[in-house]
Amino acid sequence: MEVPFTQGPVGRASYRQTLPLEPGEVVLTFDDGPMPRRTPAVLEALRTECVKATFFVVGTMVAEFPDILRRTAAEGHTIATHTWSHAYLNRQRSRNVQRDQINGGLVAARTVLGQTDPALSPFFRYPGLGHTRALDGYVAAQRLIPFSIDVDGDDWRRITPEQVVERVLARLDARGKGIVLLHDIQPRTVAILPELLRRLKAKGYRIVHVVPAAGDTRLALNAVEEPRARRIRLALDRLETREFQRVASAGGSFVPVTTAPARVVRVASAGDEALALRPALPDSVTPTPTGHAWVDPVHPPAPAAVARAEAPSASSTAPVRPALAAPNLPAGERPATQPAAATRADRAGADTNRGRETDHAGFVSVSLLTGQGAGFQEIRLRR
Ligand SMILES: [Zn+2]
Repeated sequence: MEVPFTQGPVGRASYRQTLPLEPGEVVLTFDDGPMPRRTPAVLEALRTECVKATFFVVGTMVAEFPDILRRTAAEGHTIATHTWSHAYLNRQRSRNVQRDQINGGLVAARTVLGQTDPALSPFFRYPGLGHTRALDGYVAAQRLIPFSIDVDGDDWRRITPEQVVERVLARLDARGKGIVLLHDIQPRTVAILPELLRRLKAKGYRIVHVVPAAGDTRLALNAVEEPRARRIRLALDRLETREFQRVASAGGSFVPVTTAPARVVRVASAGDEALALRPALPDSVTPTPTGHAWVDPVHPPAPAAVARAEAPSASSTAPVRPALAAPNLPAGERPATQPAAATRADRAGADTNRGRETDHAGFVSVSLLTGQGAGFQEIRLRR
């Protein structure tokens, strides 16, 4: 079932409306993961019954266990978010904290899955289902869909596993359908899930897989406000570095020439020009289309895309080892060799008085001149 942004908030526990489910239809949701052993066990149980669920993941858990998130997405489940660190937003006065929490979960999932993973959704669940009108307003502005519940599995309460099964079934029987809340981090949930799924099936319930509407996730990602709290930034930066190293070491045709990873965080284009960037490849490596691992997917490269790192004339020592490669340059503008491109980036990372390079918070901004000559674009490289 596709759940478009226009559907608005869903779930009777928090809102007047819920998903337009038919009688007997059930949406399974699992909160608070990913977690080793338990989430994989949940995945195993779901696979056995050939059903798909939605996982509302917590940013800190994603940062700790990215492989499990990747596996969950790869197995076809929907990935939704549940804040950065499970803060109860309705009890939180600071708008900065609320903003960082709401965005942080999505940024963590985006960092691991990439911007274009079809599993990633704009579905968002408040910890403890604690929402306010103001929070709902902000969440909507971020193009996220508040996703509450119809049936609480109570698997977080201190009850026996059997009681979880009984409560879910009794509450579903009373409603006839609905969004069910469970937690993939709870041992009792892991213990009863195979049985719960069998009994749901035996009773004639059908598990419905909810997915985002085309383009909705992209809009939510475009609206992301990057978390600003130092602690969250550091954790996300570490996660991003780990992801870079994982991709770099896994990709056959994609080889970084430096141990200090380069990364493209944001390419803010003044015009419509697409910009293709990637870490420099050694001369011995031929770039392939799939080797463009660090092309900003928000601005995918057009065939005619032209970009070159502007080379400041004055430079001192180079704090930046990663290099920018500029594909598709007209012959005259092409850097002679990849090492030359690396030198350019090194220079660009150094302080100059051109006012186009700024050094801040552990990043170096490099100005780029597009082929169309329109405006500058900022790229941030890790030192
Ligand atoms: Zn939760």
